[in-house]
Amino acid sequence: MRLSNGEVLLRWPLAQHIITAGWTYTDGSAHNAIDLRAAVGTPVYAAEDGTVDWLQAWDGHTKTGMQSYGNAVRLRHAAYNGGTLQTRYGHLSKVLVAYCQAVREGDLIGYSGETGNCFGAHLHFEVIYKGTRRNPLYWLDADFETASAAVRAHLGSYVSVARPAAEAALQTLTIGPMTAGDVATFRNLAQQLAVPCTAAQA
Ligand SMILES: [Zn+2]
Repeated sequence: MRLSNGEVLLRWPLAQHIITAGWTYTDGSAHNAIDLRAAVGTPVYAAEDGTVDWLQAWDGHTKTGMQSYGNAVRLRHAAYNGGTLQTRYGHLSKVLVAYCQAVREGDLIGYSGETGNCFGAHLHFEVIYKGTRRNPLYWLDADFETASAAVRAHLGSYVSVARPAAEAALQTLTIGPMTAGDVATFRNLAQQLAVPCTAAQA
């Protein structure tokens, strides 16, 4: 989702958020993605509104090149600061979307699995910005656990997206009529909370 300040907050692609591999593997080698614990058949959800701009069916045996992703889906989201923003979901057991299909954030797009170059079932999740893989933790909130201290030590550097309190439960509140002094008080409060505020003249 796009926050009112224009920043991106992606939705976790699984209901459970346990990271089993971070930006680097525990041996320090590059991963450039995160892996999330998921048994075969775990529902995988779109991280944001978007369009399926690439997908792949695994040939059932190749574990190198693009086939290392196994059954996989990539979504293209709205541009961010003029750059293309995409997310990719790998090692799926089943893909439920078609090329060019539009999806909404939270839509079921497939089921996790262990296809491609995969040792044990999990979801491989990438964020691609301007054509380069970025640390997904920059685009997600801090609501996650790690499988071990070693994994936690290899998350890379990142700053989680802070979910603004006003957007956690967005409501419309209509108050009135009120005095000019009260209007000023409410406007100040709205400003402090960073919520949109409109005043209608009677
Ligand atoms: Zn991975």
